Amino acid sequence: MARGRFLRLYIGNMASGKTRHLLTEIDTLRKYGNKKIAVFKPRTDTRSGMNTIKSRKGDEDTAEEISPNLPQELWPVLRDKEADAGCKFEIIAFDEVQFFPRDSGFFQLVKNLLDEGYDVIASGLAFDFRGEPFGSTPDLAMLAEDRCMWMTSYCTKCGSRAPYPQRIINGVPAHYNSPQVLVGGDETYEPRCDEHFVLPGRILPGREAGVQQGRIFTE
Ligand SMILES: [Zn+2]
Repeated sequence: MARGRFLRLYIGNMASGKTRHLLTEIDTLRKYGNKKIAVFKPRTDTRSGMNTIKSRKGDEDTAEEISPNLPQELWPVLRDKEADAGCKFEIIAFDEVQFFPRDSGFFQLVKNLLDEGYDVIASGLAFDFRGEPFGSTPDLAMLAEDRCMWMTSYCTKCGSRAPYPQRIINGVPAHYNSPQVLVGGDETYEPRCDEHFVLPGRILPGREAGVQQGRIFTE
């Protein structure tokens, strides 16, 4: 069977238009390319609501939810959809790929989809609230090669390029030790640049915890 032709990934910070680009591409490929597209998202995404992916501008599409820790759940759902449609789908789309942990098998799932002849389009957050690589996004970026597109967002303090999502809880920056994924919390996020990204408790790279001269951000 012919390998899928491409994996295209929209990567970047929050509020960078990742999901909007994904939705536009899905819409365009369906309308003008007559492609059969199945859309999936990890079940932990709470922003969009059940079985929906939604951009900040309000565009939306329906999506099948699969377990972030067991993304192989996709297969029976996809087979059912194909049986209902009476044909094989051509493109599989994923939103919020950062919520699939690196050890969930998501990377292998995408490779298997490509091996089975599906094209894959996806979007994901590059960095978590600690400014560290988030879930399966970096692995997928490598697999996408030059079809990985970095989407730019801008710092809410100064308007510079802002790669990091600043997590704010009760009006103050979240501590480094707060969990990577908060479920049902009342935290908010805003894009920040290197200068305005604040992470209490972070120890600078190369400085071991407990070392006297290790600078710790306490702001
Ligand atoms: Zn800034």
